[in-house]
Amino acid sequence: MKFIKLGWLFFLFLVSTYAETRPNILFLFSDDHALRTIGAYPGSINRTPNLDRIAREGALFTNSFNVNSICCPSRAAILTGKHSLANGVIGNSSKWNGKQWVFSREIGKSGYQTGLIGKWHLKGNPTDEFQSWEILSGKGGQGSYFNPTFLSPNGESKVTGHSTQIITDKALRWLKNRDQKKPFLLCAQYKVPHIHRLPPIDRMRGYDDINFPVPDTFFDDFSTRSSFVSETWMALKGMKGHVLNIAPTKEEIDKNPKICPPFLNEMNSIQRKAWHLAYDPRNLRYRKLIQDGKLEGDAKSLYIYQRFIKDYIRCVDGLDEQIGRILNFLDEDGLAENTLVIYSSDQGFFTGEHGWAEKRWMYEESFKSPLMMRWPGTIKKGTQITKLVQNIDLAPTFLKAAGLSIPNSVHGLPLQNILLPTTSNSWRKDILYQYFDGGTPKKRGPYNMPRHEGIRDERYKLISFYDFKQWEFYDLQDDPRELNNLFGKKQFKPDIERLQVRLELLKAEFFNSIYQE
Ligand code: CA
Repeated sequence: MKFIKLGWLFFLFLVSTYAETRPNILFLFSDDHALRTIGAYPGSINRTPNLDRIAREGALFTNSFNVNSICCPSRAAILTGKHSLANGVIGNSSKWNGKQWVFSREIGKSGYQTGLIGKWHLKGNPTDEFQSWEILSGKGGQGSYFNPTFLSPNGESKVTGHSTQIITDKALRWLKNRDQKKPFLLCAQYKVPHIHRLPPIDRMRGYDDINFPVPDTFFDDFSTRSSFVSETWMALKGMKGHVLNIAPTKEEIDKNPKICPPFLNEMNSIQRKAWHLAYDPRNLRYRKLIQDGKLEGDAKSLYIYQRFIKDYIRCVDGLDEQIGRILNFLDEDGLAENTLVIYSSDQGFFTGEHGWAEKRWMYEESFKSPLMMRWPGTIKKGTQITKLVQNIDLAPTFLKAAGLSIPNSVHGLPLQNILLPTTSNSWRKDILYQYFDGGTPKKRGPYNMPRHEGIRDERYKLISFYDFKQWEFYDLQDDPRELNNLFGKKQFKPDIERLQVRLELLKAEFFNSIYQE
């Protein structure tokens, strides 16, 4: 009896020792963040010193992609490590099946304390995916920038302030109150810089006297593409009104409160005052430019681009500051050394490329997601990873970091295989993309987008618009901006045919089991 008791105590000792050495995992996540607006990425147009710190002290992934460039499917792919068809969230209206396997539940069962704070944005609230959760609520799961409502198992609560800071405050509180005997997994998921972009009040001003660079492809004429590419509703030139923070002035609203746009009504008096101080002068100048006939054609498109990109970067600035608070806390609390810190976003974003401000396409700007990882003692400082990775790789990476085995049903691969110097060089050579939130030639989907799928390898990209029986093929080495569709060009026939076969093989590899069921 005594031996059994001693054996049990020894087992508990082993379990506790094991748990203590496993790394904490801090997943920092945003919504619609373009690589071009992160200082660490080549070609960046702004500064993000705190986000850059993660890359500088760890690894920067320059070829990190999503499997389906849209909000809900990206989140589901991350949780499950699987392509959209396998996890069931193929589009933004798909229901989330919370009973399916997710990495966070497994990690929780293995002795981690797990928590989710911020933007969940799946159709169906969390249940037991995380041991504790507090998510942005309202507006279809988008939540508000100002004075957002949060939902947790205890109900709803409204918090005064800006969502970026509130999510950080809640994340820091969670970290401070955690069970220090356990390793943790915390996902802090931000709303920024998703449309309608409302920066924090101390970031609303500024950038009035400068212009950000305009992408080379801003005036793309789409001359080598199918017509539906240029017909999608995501052109910056079509943006207007409150999504650009164009609204009546304070004086006008005071005279006639009925014209107050709903987003201003959501703010308290201090927030509204700050908004009017920053935006009324801009909006008066805008009206003057129109009156003077200075906002016609290209001039109008360029003006809208500057209004858009400045608010986008003001939101990113606010995020960068809050990421800095979290990194400082890790330093001060002695957590930095044994915490794997990840920064990523659900997808990239067109910030003016091809004249667009959206995502969804398999073109590089939206297909790519930012990805940076810091893990002292494991990832060498200043590492750059150019290999093809996807958001489905995060779940297996976290499982492996937690010392857990990776189920065969997971599609992704653990990034340790390319991050650690001791590992072999074999890695995937091509990746699959599938976007389903489109319609058919008779009835187009949201944004007038076509469904499409495709394959990208280290040099080429093949896209199939299967409803339209149209293809595109790009040589990313010679044409990284994807302006010259080479499908049908004789000299590329072997590569096109090779990728057409690979596309079918990849689909069979991932989904054969689904089709057999
Ligand atoms: Ca998004």
